[in-house]
Amino acid sequence: MNEIAALLKTAQTIAVLPHTSPDADTLGSCFALAYALGKQGKSTMVYTDEAIPEYLSFLDGKYEIFAGEAPVYDVCLCLDCGDMERLGGRAAVFAAAAYTINIDHHYTNTNFADYNLVEPLASSTGEICYRLLQYIGAEIDTYIASCLYAALSGDTGGFRYSNTSASSLRTAADLMEHGIDAWEINRLLFGTEDIAALRFKGSLSQRIQVLEGGLVAVVTVDAASLAESGLASDQLENIVDIPRQVRGAEVAVSFKESDGEVKVSLRSNAYIDVGDIAVRLGGGGHKRAAGLTVKAGLELAQELVLGALSEAFSTHRNTQKE
Ligand code: AMP
Ligand code: MN
Ligand code: MN
Repeated sequence: MNEIAALLKTAQTIAVLPHTSPDADTLGSCFALAYALGKQGKSTMVYTDEAIPEYLSFLDGKYEIFAGEAPVYDVCLCLDCGDMERLGGRAAVFAAAAYTINIDHHYTNTNFADYNLVEPLASSTGEICYRLLQYIGAEIDTYIASCLYAALSGDTGGFRYSNTSASSLRTAADLMEHGIDAWEINRLLFGTEDIAALRFKGSLSQRIQVLEGGLVAVVTVDAASLAESGLASDQLENIVDIPRQVRGAEVAVSFKESDGEVKVSLRSNAYIDVGDIAVRLGGGGHKRAAGLTVKAGLELAQELVLGALSEAFSTHRNTQKE
């Protein structure tokens, strides 16, 4: 943290990169840091690969969708990115920068930058960013606090998941002292949905499949039904939360096919390390929440992921017998 603070102090221009398919943690962290460093006189810009999903538009930060030739920055700061794949097309911005920084909380992080601040025990990248801002003496205003609160709340599922620690609750409490509207942030993150997406999700509830004698619950959206629904892929976020509610399931999985690839989300409750499974299949994440993108059709994606899961369950059963 000391070295990163020193580097940020001397840098004049800073590019800030969230991961592809951005979520509240990565965007909240990026907007908070870009804005705070901007207030300290730095020239900062957040670069994304894609437009920001509608449900996160309330974060209201300045950003550019990267295209074309890479601009050259003193520092490229990657937030919540477990590996370089997560930079997508912006790997060019990363490569062009004089120095690179990686701040993250995925235990699968590959330490891909010049400076790596990776804390697997942190609830979120937002929690680490809050400490960094305190460390460099940045003033936390209502905007920064709102972005960081959204980051923490997003990754902890509204402070419900197993990554919710006393320290993350203390950080949230500190952030709430800065005049933020926490209730509204949570409503926008978890309690608001386009009517079309809500209806589509209802139909997904009816099509939950269970495998492994009820230990695995799955929902699948194929490209044809996504197209038929008229919804963009990023309007159907967090569908893994649907099978996750099945009583008795240890693992929930969602498959979402679009543009010739399949986005897979994995969640577990007690003993299956889904981060490990995701890493082996080219993705990443945490023990209890992970994901990957399979650049192939639905059938192959399901074969790969469900096969790996089935193996993980049989390993678990065998170790229990011993
Ligand atoms: P998601 O299922 O997309 O909500 O992601 C769950 C966790 O897995 C998050 O911490 C993500 O950063 C991580 N993750 C999701 N997709 C990928 C991927 N393609 N590669 C690496 N990590 C991923
Ligand atoms: Mn993330
Ligand atoms: Mn995160």
